[in-house]
Amino acid sequence: MSILKVAQMGHPVLRERGRPIEKAEFRKPLFQKLIDDMVETMHEYSGVGLAAPQVHMGLRLFVALLEEDADSKSEATVIINPEIVPNSKTREDGWEGCLSIPDIRGRVPRFTDVTVKALDRDGREFELRLKKFAARVAQHEADHLDGVLFFDRMTSMESLTYLDEYSRYHSKDDD
Ligand code: ZN
Repeated sequence: MSILKVAQMGHPVLRERGRPIEKAEFRKPLFQKLIDDMVETMHEYSGVGLAAPQVHMGLRLFVALLEEDADSKSEATVIINPEIVPNSKTREDGWEGCLSIPDIRGRVPRFTDVTVKALDRDGREFELRLKKFAARVAQHEADHLDGVLFFDRMTSMESLTYLDEYSRYHSKDDD
């Protein structure tokens, strides 16, 4: 496995729409290696999610740690060609960061209860119901597949915060 280079805000790949993965691709060793490398890269940079465009691949694929609570640990979930359907209209503001926008945090409104329909790394269909933080992570990562960054979803720039100041003043806001 290897650590991949993460595209930083301003790189055009982050603004492009990823293409769906086709059936024949799931069996390719290089595709499976990309998934393993993305998981390793996400862990290396302490991310909770990483989308293929963030590693310069215009594909509809992301990996994520999908826990309702931001501090719990879980295995990476591989999500391919996802469709995200909100289960209610309720949105909540919460803090987000992004490996492509280092050291910045901002508050973003997201649906609190969603169903993700996707394919796993073997091309099998599955559905996941996600709430709270896990729902937030999935919406953030799915946005990357459409070239959308979390700044685009903020309704006000007032909460934009550097990581140091976030840790000092805001890290307990959502508790
Ligand atoms: Zn991101």
